[in-house]
Amino acid sequence: MRQGDARQGDARQGDAREGTIDRATDEEFVDALPKVELHVHLEGSMHPRTLLALARRHGVDGLPTDLDGVAKFYEFRDFDHFIDVYLAAVRVLRDASDFALLARETALGLAAQGVRYAEITFTPFLHIERGIDPSEVFAGVEQGRREAEEATGIQIRWIADIPGLPDMDLRPASEGTIEFALNHRESVIALGLGGPEVGVPRPQFADVFTAARDAGLHRIPHAGETTGPRTIWDSLEYLHAERIGHGIRALDDPALVDHLRAARIPLEVCPTSNLRTGVVADYPEHPLPRMIELDLPVSLNSDDPPMFGTTLRDEYLHALRSLGLSRGQVADLAAAAIDHSFAPAAVKDAIRAELDAVTDRLADATDR
Ligand SMILES: [Zn+2]
Repeated sequence: MRQGDARQGDARQGDAREGTIDRATDEEFVDALPKVELHVHLEGSMHPRTLLALARRHGVDGLPTDLDGVAKFYEFRDFDHFIDVYLAAVRVLRDASDFALLARETALGLAAQGVRYAEITFTPFLHIERGIDPSEVFAGVEQGRREAEEATGIQIRWIADIPGLPDMDLRPASEGTIEFALNHRESVIALGLGGPEVGVPRPQFADVFTAARDAGLHRIPHAGETTGPRTIWDSLEYLHAERIGHGIRALDDPALVDHLRAARIPLEVCPTSNLRTGVVADYPEHPLPRMIELDLPVSLNSDDPPMFGTTLRDEYLHALRSLGLSRGQVADLAAAAIDHSFAPAAVKDAIRAELDAVTDRLADATDR
């Protein structure tokens, strides 16, 4: 989001508080919602101008040199091409100050959209593998986190995810990631698993996710984004998943839908991401409305926002305008993200109270 948009949003939020939410535009309604973001990647949140600046600073070859070039660079042919671009882009991150810049910009950008709490995924092993000291990575992201928290009151926790890349030696990647997570329990709350699903069966990560469970780390693998229900079943059985990244392909298996609904396993849905990587053709075909109809526990998230030309705010607007959800359903998505988070109870209660005040005004306005 551009700075100007955020300021405009704040001014409009004031109007909504005066009880005019029934006449609020979609933007005013979305801006009034206190939000929680559960599925966003730090490395995938790099603003194009930051990518250019860091590439210049470190003399990284093979990347675009202007904003038009970045826009073309971020046009993905398919999911594999997206992964290639992502891996090329992360090469600009070299030292603690780069990670601090990225973390600060990402957290401030979320705060400007009304995000009160976020669980942000990053992939330490992608950097460790390139020879960067893990302590450099952590010192950087923590500095950015603290600066953004102090400036805005947003609260951030980290999910360290294993880069599940078919070409990578996944044993050291898994061990390096959980070691990183366990060494930094003060702000790393979960073990994740990202990258392509095709060619990366989930059962091979059983040991490391079992170790995460035994150590009290939460488990949040990606599953059911580019492959079918089997990957989600495997994530539940072998990885002890407490939440699923994407999970949209659950709809292919009615027994899985029943299980996810009964067990209340949350799914982190990222509509624009699915369109931009080509796993869903267009908004009208996106399964989110169907998932809500089936009473699956779903939240709305942005994944890799600048790479996909979106923001979390845009995802809420798309839910209203492109997916045809009502304001009540969209407010429910905001509430679900609070409930599905691993935030401390006091943090959840405070955001929930703030959201309830907004939705109460919505209900009053509808009754009138
Ligand atoms: Zn993701």
